Amino acid sequence: MASRRRASILIPPEKRKCIGVMTSGGDAQGMNGAVRAVVRSSIARGCRVFGIHEGYEGLLHPELIKEMDWISVRGWLSVGGTSIGTARCKDFYERPGRLIAARNLVKAGIDALIVIGGDGSLTGADKFRSEWPGLLSELVEKGELTEAETAPVQHLNIVGMVGSIDNDMAMTDATIGCYSSLQRICEAVDNIDSTALSHQRAFVIEVMGRHCGWLALMAGVSTGADFVFIPEKPFKDNWQEKMKEIIMKHRSLGKRKTIVIVAEGAHDESLNKITPEHVKTLLSNDLKLDTRITTLGHVQRGGLPSAYDRMLATLQGVEAVQAVLDATPETPSPVISITENKICRQPLMDAVAATQSVAVAIKNKDFDKAMSLRDAEFAEYNRIYLMTTNIDSPELRLPEDKRLRIGIIHVGAPAGGMNSATRAAVAYCLARGHKPVALHNGFPGLCRHHGDKPLGSVRDFDWLEVEGWANQGGSEIGTNRGLPSEDMNTTATCFEKYKIQALFLIGGFEAFTALSELRHAREKYAAFRIPMILLPATISNNVPGSEYSLGSDTCLNALIQYCDAIRQSASASRRRVFVVETQGGKSGYVATLAGLCVGAVCVYTPEEGIDHKMMYRDLEYLVREFSKDKGQNRAGKLILRNEQASDTYTTEVIANMIRTAAKGRFEARHVVPGHVQQGGAPSPMDRVRAVRLAVKCIQHLETFAGKSEAHLMAEMTSAAVIGIKGASVAVTGMEHLEKYETDWKDRRPKNEFWIAMKPTVDMLSGRPLAEDTCYACGRKLDHGVVDNHENCA
Ligand code: ADP
Repeated sequence: MASRRRASILIPPEKRKCIGVMTSGGDAQGMNGAVRAVVRSSIARGCRVFGIHEGYEGLLHPELIKEMDWISVRGWLSVGGTSIGTARCKDFYERPGRLIAARNLVKAGIDALIVIGGDGSLTGADKFRSEWPGLLSELVEKGELTEAETAPVQHLNIVGMVGSIDNDMAMTDATIGCYSSLQRICEAVDNIDSTALSHQRAFVIEVMGRHCGWLALMAGVSTGADFVFIPEKPFKDNWQEKMKEIIMKHRSLGKRKTIVIVAEGAHDESLNKITPEHVKTLLSNDLKLDTRITTLGHVQRGGLPSAYDRMLATLQGVEAVQAVLDATPETPSPVISITENKICRQPLMDAVAATQSVAVAIKNKDFDKAMSLRDAEFAEYNRIYLMTTNIDSPELRLPEDKRLRIGIIHVGAPAGGMNSATRAAVAYCLARGHKPVALHNGFPGLCRHHGDKPLGSVRDFDWLEVEGWANQGGSEIGTNRGLPSEDMNTTATCFEKYKIQALFLIGGFEAFTALSELRHAREKYAAFRIPMILLPATISNNVPGSEYSLGSDTCLNALIQYCDAIRQSASASRRRVFVVETQGGKSGYVATLAGLCVGAVCVYTPEEGIDHKMMYRDLEYLVREFSKDKGQNRAGKLILRNEQASDTYTTEVIANMIRTAAKGRFEARHVVPGHVQQGGAPSPMDRVRAVRLAVKCIQHLETFAGKSEAHLMAEMTSAAVIGIKGASVAVTGMEHLEKYETDWKDRRPKNEFWIAMKPTVDMLSGRPLAEDTCYACGRKLDHGVVDNHENCA
């Protein structure tokens, strides 16, 4: 069966490559996951793969070029830094160094190179590629290589992957490592927060980023900092006065702490450096605040990779190998990137050139250009950040007739990011002149409030109340699973009584159902003829209209920490399989993505189900794997099973079956992490996306202000879901979603985007598939031919 599996993705022998993989420049969390994915997918496709140790140094020293096998990268997903080493290599800057590198590559028989590094490393890679023919001719002329040796490698096949904590590469939304680094910063700022609050102190925090303010800006967005300095967009005029004015405003509203974040490369419009000491002096002397400086330094490079970085590294590594196999001498070298939720390829040369031109634009004081060269999302985050911290700007106010009373309600189970979204929505509403109204404890809370003795469940928000919510998990205004249909009359009466002119819902599938009910009830109740929008927030990530829900990233991070810990617990005894039961209802998203992030040997989902043939195959596979294991890896193996994957094969039953099959040669345990999966503080990704999407939601509601009821009823998106769909953020009308995109029975979207990732999880763990399944897309084949994905299209 195993040989059959390989046949499904093996490429013809004449197309097989010999791939070198290296990490170079500054290290970043997730680089190991990228190497693992490159190594395993290369092997699975029939290619040989070599690790080039210590960055470009490795190309200069043949003993640092070592062949890698399947087992050599076991467990690497959960390891920070880079295990094949990285270095800065002076010799590679010069042609003679690159000449030696070319000779060593050809001698090792390597005909493709995957370079994982920052813009410096990728610039070097691009230079190497462009010089390649000349380097080969010179080596032949000098007699160091023969024509026969160089003939098969006339074209150097290079693919770049961006590993960098700064997120400083153009043409990609995220680089491998940036979200882990942001996590380190958020943890530090969250910790500082409590002490700052106790002493009413101000803290100036310096974060990395010489030419790139991504870490500083996102740290500001995700921790609710008072002021942020980034290199791309220095404040005009007198920044000292602007900063003092905003901080004084926040203090006058009752805020007890002040956080200012300074990027390493911050400066004013004349390029005079702005240092943390400088900021501290202003805060201490002029505002009389007890101010301290914290420089985070290398802590930002440390720690384990976050779920997002593991996923990004893995999916991009697989894509990089595919790009190597797709390359022709005519195609330009690609760099693997991501736009919103979509892994793409960009021309390496263009991405490097655009990245370098940011530094040039800053040097030339052309800050608008510097900002425009970053991705559009960066400029948007900057605008949103300024709007949500600077709530007292008359220029942001809308005219009276465009202002709305906007009800904000949480529905369903709590999810990380609900509070961050609410905080951002409230701050944005106040800046624009809207009246944000808290509807406490979901729809049942609203209905209970109605009557002779109001319970205070409907209240106007004020800024100070929500100000500290950026890093709070759970739901501060309370959430409830109850639906409006439980008492539609009272719900409508409350909407009228409290003059709700627009509704912002945050929640999961229940919130989706609630919105659907309200939309249908519009015919009968005029109170619901208002604009309404849902921001999906559920750890299950099963809301139609979006590939991403707030809280799902926090959940994955909580789950991978849990899995890393239990796997490590097996290191003393070894030979143990853990069957972990994940939440997610009828959606296998959490199980599959967590499986991708921890390198699970098998993942069971409700979409696929579990049958006896699958069980038999997996048991056989486990027995075989353990019989091969010579103790190279002391950690246990993980199997993830979604809570509703099968009625018969429960988590416990699977563990028992494994124990029986093991016949004492290895152990099996079942574990249920349960509510641990909701996580504690929301992850940085959930926080920043909460802010961005919440503001977009209110902006969408704003477009209906002052419009007629007829206009509203005719407009499909007057009841809508905001979401990330592929490479863009989309607002989709409920009617469309209800009719075409919702699997109501199983409470999930009809076409779940992540299903396409499932074969990758299986491939990277080496799990055998059913003979009639296409490896490339996981589709069941009915023609009995396994190796032709083309026929699946
Ligand atoms: P990063 O990749 O993180 O930006 P560096 O800029 O230090 O880090 O680059 C890492 C290595 O890449 C350098 O030590 C050097 O070996 C190689 N490199 C960088 N820039 C170039 C260049 N312009 N030409 C040739 N090699 C380069």
